[in-house]
Amino acid sequence: MEEQIRRFRHYDIEGVVIRIMDDEILSLNEFLGEEHQLDDGDEYEFAYTCCYLKHRGRHILIDAGFDPDTTPGALESIDVSPEDIELVLLTHADRDHVAGLLMPDGSLTYPNAQHVIGKELWDNLSNPATLEALDSERRPFYRKLVRVLNDSIQLCDGESDVADGIRFIPSAGHRIGHAVYDFASEGEPLLHTGDSFFHPIFAEHPDWTNITDSIPEDGVKSRKLLVARAAKSNATILSTHIPFPGIGQLKKIDDLLYQWTPVEIED
Ligand SMILES: [Zn+2]
Repeated sequence: MEEQIRRFRHYDIEGVVIRIMDDEILSLNEFLGEEHQLDDGDEYEFAYTCCYLKHRGRHILIDAGFDPDTTPGALESIDVSPEDIELVLLTHADRDHVAGLLMPDGSLTYPNAQHVIGKELWDNLSNPATLEALDSERRPFYRKLVRVLNDSIQLCDGESDVADGIRFIPSAGHRIGHAVYDFASEGEPLLHTGDSFFHPIFAEHPDWTNITDSIPEDGVKSRKLLVARAAKSNATILSTHIPFPGIGQLKKIDDLLYQWTPVEIED
């Protein structure tokens, strides 16, 4: 049985990384451009996670996972109820990040939360042309999501403060309007990088293209800025799909070359 949650403490921030789906063994070569294909050793455990933080007394969720059961179930194990969640910070709107926002009856899973989302992402998501372009299996969900979320969203336009000590940082490329979040602590910051890098190799080589990004050249631009920022601030990084629990730090080695070190910060 795989470990489902990993509790951690980072200075005054407590958190839990939640495994929302089983790991998949994927080939790194599926994401790498032709010029960076690896000869062997390219298989790795692609994790699916979301994250809960208790930050300055607030209950916060970063993305919501794939279904409305797994994340609330994990929260229950640490005595947090869906009603307690005050902020849901969204990195982007792929289903493994947002499908858990709605209950089967179409109501909000986190009824008291403000849902923080980039304006660019929301404009794109709520554009009738975007909804129309989705396949018939996805369209009803996203149509409902846009309608139901509408009354509880907090839009961020450009880098800005979401709340005390929480910064919204646009980091587009993986998807239109993809964003990451920086949390101030009593020490170095905690930085949730969403889907900016699927594997440490993309953080270590920020100029390498992830060919599955929606806008690969923007992904590279955003990653260069993000890893430079992370290394400079000595941030502890959380990441959705890096092998579980996906926590690490980046050190600058050279121009466009960084070193990823996994961090064990057990509670
Ligand atoms: Zn994802």
